[in-house]
Amino acid sequence: MRVVRYSLFVTFLAGFFISYVLWHQRDILLVSFFDVGQGDSTYIRTPSGADILIDAGPDLLTLHRLGRRMPWYDRRLELLVLTHPDSDHITAAVEILRRYEVLHILLPNVANDTPVFHAIHQEIEQQHSDVHFAAVGESLQLDKVRIDVLHPSFAEYPNNASMPLDARLQPPTNDLSVVMLLTYGANRFLFTGDATRKLEETMLRRGLVTQVQFLKVAHHGSRTSTHWEFLEQVRPEIAVISVGQENRFGHPHREVLERLQNIGATILRTDIYGTIHAECDLQQCRWSFEKHDAL
Ligand SMILES: [Zn+2]
Repeated sequence: MRVVRYSLFVTFLAGFFISYVLWHQRDILLVSFFDVGQGDSTYIRTPSGADILIDAGPDLLTLHRLGRRMPWYDRRLELLVLTHPDSDHITAAVEILRRYEVLHILLPNVANDTPVFHAIHQEIEQQHSDVHFAAVGESLQLDKVRIDVLHPSFAEYPNNASMPLDARLQPPTNDLSVVMLLTYGANRFLFTGDATRKLEETMLRRGLVTQVQFLKVAHHGSRTSTHWEFLEQVRPEIAVISVGQENRFGHPHREVLERLQNIGATILRTDIYGTIHAECDLQQCRWSFEKHDAL
């Protein structure tokens, strides 16, 4: 009996080792735009296995999506980005902080006086995660993946750093969304949170907006974002819109869809395709879709 157990254990270890090696040999970056209804949550796994989550959706569905996508043996997120403290982007973050070891948290230095925001803040303090306020010009290199922060700058939230979080600058929080450019070989992804037109204009003025292949469309396709001058610089081949079916905001707006079509982008929507996956080598990405059964 002992021998059987031992050989089972060896087989298990061998399987684990082989899948680990295969994974790394493939040099694949995974990006999953989770279907979380009306909200945002994007999961990224780098070729060396670092896990990044950008936003945590409007409810606990994100937790379920994350659990299905991350390897079962991996309970650590290297980076959690909360682009801004609106509930459709942060709600599952409390449970994620409780269930995963979150090494680093990147967010704008802005408060939102809501129960979910305060709960996250409390949990962050308890877990001792490393909190970093996003600032333009910063970058992060995770193996061959580079992440550049394009927004906000400290000019957007002056004199806040030494204040208690709940006393800091209050909304409009969308104007302070964290915007990031991810580069992996020839692939460039732009993650925009709920960036507004004002924010897009600021980035244009600073000369930070460049062409990318893949754009996560800001603010679920709201008409107050993704304006034409911005799109003319970004010129995405694929535009992903994270949006809930028949949402009460009328997202995505017809004008935004027209602008994206006019620039020549292929539009992928989570309300139509479900979760949208990109598997990228250093040259290109392969896209696939996953429809979810109702829970
Ligand atoms: Zn939003």
